[in-house]
Amino acid sequence: MTRTEELAAALARTTDRVRAAAGAAGRDPDRLRLVVVTKFFPADDVRRLADLGVRDVGESRDQEASAKAAELAPDLPDLRWHFVGQLQTNKARSVARYADVVHSVDRPRLAAALQAGAADAGRRVGCFVQVDLAAGLGLDAGADRGGAAGDDVLRVADAVAAGEDLELRGVMAVAPRGVDPARAFAELSRAARRVRAEHPGAVEVSAGMSGDLEQAVAAGATHLRVGSAILGSRPGAR
Ligand SMILES: *Cc1c(COP(=O)(O)O)cnc(C)c1O
Repeated sequence: MTRTEELAAALARTTDRVRAAAGAAGRDPDRLRLVVVTKFFPADDVRRLADLGVRDVGESRDQEASAKAAELAPDLPDLRWHFVGQLQTNKARSVARYADVVHSVDRPRLAAALQAGAADAGRRVGCFVQVDLAAGLGLDAGADRGGAAGDDVLRVADAVAAGEDLELRGVMAVAPRGVDPARAFAELSRAARRVRAEHPGAVEVSAGMSGDLEQAVAAGATHLRVGSAILGSRPGAR
């Protein structure tokens, strides 16, 4: 099998999973956006995925993402780049130059830095507020993956909404390890409702990865971030 055939097969399996999950939940599969997370994989894989019809790709490290986006921009101007990883404030300006959507906005200062970068670059950047689900689930705070907790979720949402060049899309989370994903995503739905009460346009929910996309679809996710189920296990990761 060539790499393209391998990716095509894995992509088809994932799309089948998404359609089945949507069917089970009585949801329209065409309203679900699959973001293929290509971190650790070469730009050539992104090209192959684009040939297979993928338009939304996700990355989690600025250095790697900015290089891939720059390399592919001339040939693939229609790709939408989603930044899904933890983001340092001093990288926000760089990310705002190529990212169409940032899924991991978890502090007001980061929102302000993204706004400055977007204004500078003359671009609009969609933003999800990343929610740390640990506290609401009764787990120890300080989870390894970032995210705002409690009332900070609303503070971050307000900061994004105040950014003229930012668009508040909704909330995002990663289900904590060792927790039933259905329980985790129910907690995310509660955060989503609180944000929507203040910001009615923030209707999107980014949740669900290779291992838990079914539970995410059942809980109302609109964006699924799937990496290893499509690209294989990441070189040197996990
Ligand atoms: C890597 C990553 C994913 C994809 O994870 P898989 O388990 O490989 O599908 C999704 N979301 C975030 C935030 C990630 O960092």
